[in-house]
Amino acid sequence: MKIYSALFLLAAVAVSAHHAPAAEPRINLVCSTYPIRLLTREVTAEVPSVKVDLLVPAETGCPHDYVLTPTDMRRLMRADAVIVNGLGLDEFLNKPLMSVKPDAVIIDTSVGIDDLLPARIPTVGQRHAHGHEDDETHAHHGDAHGDFNPHLFASPRHAARLVMNIAAALSEIDPEHAASYDAAARNAAERLRRLSQDMALTATEFARRKIVTHHNVFDYLAQDLELDVVAVIQGGHGQEPTATELRRLIRVLREHKVAVLITEPQYRDNVVTVLSAETGVPLATLDPLATGPEDADLDYYLTVMRANIEKLQRLLQ
Ligand SMILES: [Zn+2]
Repeated sequence: MKIYSALFLLAAVAVSAHHAPAAEPRINLVCSTYPIRLLTREVTAEVPSVKVDLLVPAETGCPHDYVLTPTDMRRLMRADAVIVNGLGLDEFLNKPLMSVKPDAVIIDTSVGIDDLLPARIPTVGQRHAHGHEDDETHAHHGDAHGDFNPHLFASPRHAARLVMNIAAALSEIDPEHAASYDAAARNAAERLRRLSQDMALTATEFARRKIVTHHNVFDYLAQDLELDVVAVIQGGHGQEPTATELRRLIRVLREHKVAVLITEPQYRDNVVTVLSAETGVPLATLDPLATGPEDADLDYYLTVMRANIEKLQRLLQ
């Protein structure tokens, strides 16, 4: 008798789970990149009716030369809203999507952020916000997709603004949960701003400030920490440096007495190793959060950034 009841109960649970409307996501969001999905998941954490998918595979990182697959296209078509990085990083999806689904809802997380750095960063020397002084000589080192550097996510200060932008946009398409999005975003933004302040405070003690990075992903973070990115190794579109550029990079590394060559987990190539061996400038891997585990939340972001600043502290003191 008891067994019978238990079985009956199990069957009832199975039936109700199958038919329960709450189990079906009501809003399907597709995020273009890993960091945007991480931040969006944080904003929607208390709203189970929202499903947050990722378009570009988590291990791909920056989608500078990503090409949409037919599966990607179907997921984009089904999405209630597509949340993008903006500033040219998602150009691979904007045009194809708008041509097949002109009424698609695209949420650009970079909207309203106006203290942007130029995408074309000088290979040598100080960077100038909104300045294009070195365009002529170093045009090939820029990100041809946009005028501004799109990597806001790798700066906790900017990530705090991204979560607020995401919450504001989601509140418009799902006003029923606006309070929940807003509360989650405020909480996340507060934690990110505190992290940013802590990192900046640590950086005030650095004795050395000159770094060279693999691509321009750390420009905003470097600005927050008052570090000087004297050169980037890789231009837009993942171009590797030519022999001439390599020679120039070696000269820059020596002449500027660069403290550290910074690479990323997604780039394990020989160029940085050669440059480091040739010049004696130490090599370090920092994680810009362009990749990571699928189920990561804000704690993961904070942990990775703390590891980054600890590594910089050891290298630049
Ligand atoms: Zn990038």
